[in-house]
Amino acid sequence: MSEEIFSHYDYGITCIDSGYIRPKMAAIYLLEHGEEVAIIETGTNHSLARVLTLLDKKNIAPSQVRYVIPTHVHLDHAGGAGSMMDIFPNAELIVHPRGARHLADPSRLMKGVIDVYGQEKYDSLYGELIAVSKNRIVEAADEMKLDLAGRTLLIRHTPGHAEHHICIWDEQSKGWFTGDTFGVSYQEMIGPDLRHIIPTTSPVQFSPEKLINSINLLMSYNPESIYLTHFGLLENPQFYAEKLCECIFYYCEVAQVNRNESNPIEKIEDAIFRKESAQLNKIAPSIDRAQAHELLDMDFNLNAQGLIVWLNRN
Ligand SMILES: [Zn+2]
Repeated sequence: MSEEIFSHYDYGITCIDSGYIRPKMAAIYLLEHGEEVAIIETGTNHSLARVLTLLDKKNIAPSQVRYVIPTHVHLDHAGGAGSMMDIFPNAELIVHPRGARHLADPSRLMKGVIDVYGQEKYDSLYGELIAVSKNRIVEAADEMKLDLAGRTLLIRHTPGHAEHHICIWDEQSKGWFTGDTFGVSYQEMIGPDLRHIIPTTSPVQFSPEKLINSINLLMSYNPESIYLTHFGLLENPQFYAEKLCECIFYYCEVAQVNRNESNPIEKIEDAIFRKESAQLNKIAPSIDRAQAHELLDMDFNLNAQGLIVWLNRN
C-alpha cells in the first residue's frame, strides 16, 4: 500500500492523510481558490504538522486560511480544531450549531472519550483539546453559503450519523465533503472494478431514517464526486448511495433479530462481519479474512453499539 501523505485531485483539492491510527484511515481536505484556502476536517492535534507541511510546500501562508470546517465534532474530525485555529489567525471555524458549544468548551468532549478509552489511550490518540474563542466560531445554518475568494461552498445539515453533522457542497467540482454521512471506504477496500463501502452507525445518535434522508439529499445535487473522510475521492456516487442504503436496512434488520440475545453486540458484529467480509472478498480478492478483521473490526464494533443504542431509543 502506498504510504504517501498527500493526494492531489482536480479543482485545487488535496487529500491529507491525518495520521490517525493507521495510514489512510482519516482525511483532512485542503481546498485552494485564488488567494484563500479552506480546510475541511481537522484530524486530531497530532495532524496539524502534516497540514503545515503541505501549506509550506505550496507556499501558502497561515494567514490565507479563511475557513476551518469540521463536518461534526467526533474527535477524528474535529479534535484538532483548537490547535488549528491558534495557528491560522484569519480563519473562521464553521460548525453545526449543535457542535459549536463543544468546540468553545471541549471539556465534555474530552471527558466522554476519556471515559470510554481511558486517559492513556486518549492522550496518544488526541491530546488535550484546545478551546476556540466564541467570536471565531460561526454556527452554520442549513443552506448557509461560504465565499472562498469567489468560490461558493454550501453547507447542508445531514443528520443520521450524528445530529451535529454537516456536509459541504463544492459547486465547482460538483463534489460533496461528506464526513461520516456517506459511510466508510478505506483504500484497502478498492478492488479492480468496484470499491466496498459500509455505513457508519456508531453511537449515540445514529438514526437510519435520518441517515437515508441525508444520503438522498446529497444525491439530489447530482454529485460527480464524493470526498470521503474515511477515505479519499469516490466517483460514481449514485451507485454507492444505493449500496449504502441497502446496507443500512440490513444492519437494522440484523440488530432487530439479535436484540434479545444475551450478548447482542457480539452477535450483531459477527453477522455484519460475515456478510461484509464475503462481499469485500468478492470486490477486493486480495483481502483475506484476517485482513478484513484488522481493517474493519473497530468500525463493526462501533456500528453494533450504535445500532443497540438506536434500538433502545425506539
Ligand atoms: Zn463520526
